[in-house]
Amino acid sequence: MMTGSEGPKLRASDTVRSAQPVLTIKHIVMGFNTREGAIKAVDGISFDMAPGEFVSIIGPSGCGKSTLFNIVGGLLRGYDGEVAVGGEQISGPHPGIGMVFQEESTFPWRTVLDNVAFPLEIQGIAKEERYARARRFIQMVGLDGFEKRFPSELSGGMRQRVAIARTLAFQPKILLMDEPFGALDEQTRLLLGGKVLQIQQELMQTTLLITHSITEAVQLSDRVVIMTYRPGKVKRIIDIDLPRPRTSEVVSSDAFGRYVAAIWNDLRDEASRGMTDSEARGRED
Ligand code: ADP
Ligand code: MG
Repeated sequence: MMTGSEGPKLRASDTVRSAQPVLTIKHIVMGFNTREGAIKAVDGISFDMAPGEFVSIIGPSGCGKSTLFNIVGGLLRGYDGEVAVGGEQISGPHPGIGMVFQEESTFPWRTVLDNVAFPLEIQGIAKEERYARARRFIQMVGLDGFEKRFPSELSGGMRQRVAIARTLAFQPKILLMDEPFGALDEQTRLLLGGKVLQIQQELMQTTLLITHSITEAVQLSDRVVIMTYRPGKVKRIIDIDLPRPRTSEVVSSDAFGRYVAAIWNDLRDEASRGMTDSEARGRED
């Protein structure tokens, strides 16, 4: 451990980036056959994630973010390249990876409490303990009092918070989230983002977040990976050198504004290419 007298304090991401990566994404290429012919959705994406690191991927709609997410999560086959956890190549779902999906994914026949406790039940954790743990995460996402409700009795944003709590409750070593806050209003998004960050820092969870929100990426991340519009490549990786712990207050600082401007600068061209493309095809992705 480093102490104050031995030199300047390093950020967690500085100390760990030299260590063995938890997650390695190496030259991923993936194409699809679509009505418009063969397209390359992802074209040569590579980066590593250090233990406890929080990385966001940002890019316009249709640039291949969910494709990459499904590949890393082991749900999509037929790609070129390699995904490795702790240096070992994986070729399917890995028990150390937890996923939060873009679409709602609660179990309609289970209450909020039983939804969140589900992965703990699978792990064989005794009822009392799994309910206690589930309650803690339900409270964290601001749903205490709703434990006995069914998903159909909740709003879309609340259901998404159930899905987030369920994945967090099983405390995966690697957390993958695909636009998890998309259905939420801006204020809930910022507050919930702050809570997820708090848990992530507590558990030193290696986290890969896919988002199209620039503020969310800057608020939460150690690094932001900016993707190009089709084919999806890494355009730039920006280090977010803001102090931790970060609360939702960081959003109003000058440094925060400078990062947002820099990312938008890179993203603007990609976003307009995406927009022109979807207009030409007469539909949204
Ligand atoms: P994003 O999540 O960044 O919006 P996606 O990864 O969902 O982008 O999609 C990237 C591109 O690949 C899009 O053009 C999309 O239409 C196409 N695509 C994604 N999944 C499939 C699939 N299963 N079959 C055909 N095309 C797909
Ligand atoms: Mg997507």
